[in-house]
Amino acid sequence: MRRLLLAAPFTLLATPAHASTGEAVNPWVALAYLVSGVFFILALRGLSSPATSRTGNRFGMIGMLIAVVTTLVTHVPTSDLSDYEVISVFGLGEILIAIALGAIIGITIARRIAMTAMPELVAAFHSLVGLAAVLVGWAAYLNPGAFGLLVGDSIGTVSKVEMGLGIAIGAITFSGSVIAFAKLSGRMSGSPILLPARHVINLGTLAAIIVLTALFAMAGSSETMPLIVALTVLAFLIGFLLIIPIGGADMPVVVSMLNSYSGWAAAAMGFTLGNTAMIITGALVGSSGAILSYIMCRAMNRSFLSVIAGGFGADAGAGGGEAKEQRPYKQGSAADAAFMLEQAEKVIIIPGYGMAVAQAQHALREMADILEEKGVEVKYAIHPVAGRMPGHMNVLLAEAQVPYENVFELEDINSEFAQADVAFIIGANDVVNPAAKTDKSSPIYGMPVFDVDKAKQVFFIKRSMGGVGYAGVDNDVFYMDQTMMLLADAKKMVEEIVKALD
Ligand code: NDP
Repeated sequence: MRRLLLAAPFTLLATPAHASTGEAVNPWVALAYLVSGVFFILALRGLSSPATSRTGNRFGMIGMLIAVVTTLVTHVPTSDLSDYEVISVFGLGEILIAIALGAIIGITIARRIAMTAMPELVAAFHSLVGLAAVLVGWAAYLNPGAFGLLVGDSIGTVSKVEMGLGIAIGAITFSGSVIAFAKLSGRMSGSPILLPARHVINLGTLAAIIVLTALFAMAGSSETMPLIVALTVLAFLIGFLLIIPIGGADMPVVVSMLNSYSGWAAAAMGFTLGNTAMIITGALVGSSGAILSYIMCRAMNRSFLSVIAGGFGADAGAGGGEAKEQRPYKQGSAADAAFMLEQAEKVIIIPGYGMAVAQAQHALREMADILEEKGVEVKYAIHPVAGRMPGHMNVLLAEAQVPYENVFELEDINSEFAQADVAFIIGANDVVNPAAKTDKSSPIYGMPVFDVDKAKQVFFIKRSMGGVGYAGVDNDVFYMDQTMMLLADAKKMVEEIVKALD
């Protein structure tokens, strides 16, 4: 939803109706954009905790409404042109039709989308922001007068730098997001695709884009067309090249990185269009995305450079589809699990992607309530990359009204497994895989994981022994002495445990 909101001003501002450079900005317009910026900051503040996230979302909507209405009233042709020189391609009717169409598509997608498909939807929306930035940049290049970018007969140098950067970042965001969408939705293999000499190719292409931007900024009007075409094509190409070698557990960082790029693309276009609201929103999205990428990298013990250089762990653990050696494991039933849970003093629940697929959070909450009534201490342990999007588990648990004070982050709870009677793993896999600590050849090596092996008992809910986690690797926890495999759909299994507990 946030991406949809952020994409909105592009549609409106793409209309070349910008006041000429250097004209005094109407103070009311500046104030309105400032107020919308304050709402965006409040939105980010609210989104930082599940308890305030709904309010945060509402602040974001109010901020965007103010920005959109301000843009509309100052850019749609009126009879009074005293404040602004308005050059209109579309009138209010066309703009309202475009808004209505966008709103219908957005509402339909938002209502239909499964929670499990959110990451790919976010990637798809990032691609739209990137494409919008490219189109706005090209529109400004082809019609600089309407955008107020002319200095004499040609586009000003600074405007050309802003335009070149906006188009380049937008194109990288677009093609990178399309690949991320294809990988996350399973339309393309999630494994890294490694080209020979990819680092040389990538660095060469990035250097060429920087040189082309400089040449474009300095070139005379008649020489700019081939430069901007080459710049756009190379930027589309590098977005593609940067994302194909990234795979496995590094995809969450890619999604937040593309989020950041889309913000910078918006900010660059804000400079081209002279629109403060876009600069503020773009900078907020760009910097919050960069901070999130940094946090995710830290959570996974990766350096940011190793992720964007791509192909981390690509040669290892390609075990997803390979036949695995058969190892002995213990399988239990819901009745067995219920019996042991009742005896426990402390249970730590580790939810993962499978809980989201099964929509088992409500049944899980019911199970936890019954156990608490029986005097068992129940805590939830959330890994920063559990599920398929940042905060995925927090959202689901909040939806099931699990009290926030029972939900703990990895670093706050990991030391408690040694005192836990039961580690109850429900649809998680990579985030509890000890290979991350011990197996240097594993694609998840280095990622901090829950120390479930320290708990007295481990219950592991998944559908079959064949299924693997996102990173496609086997998990030694299945075969530990204290592990009981509960093989079934997560919701069905928890509902049966609830019945057995009653
Ligand atoms: P995993 O993807 O490692 O494992 C999911 C587990 O759920 C599998 O064992 C699967 O086994 C099981 N499962 C699937 N459906 C069901 C069901 N209906 N009922 C019961 N079990 C089910 O999940 P984690 O949350 O542990 O790890 C997240 C992974 O995803 C990490 O590698 C992370 O890097 C990556 N990732 C995270 C993103 C994020 O932003 N959080 C974004 C993109 C990727 P089976 O098939 O046998 O049932």
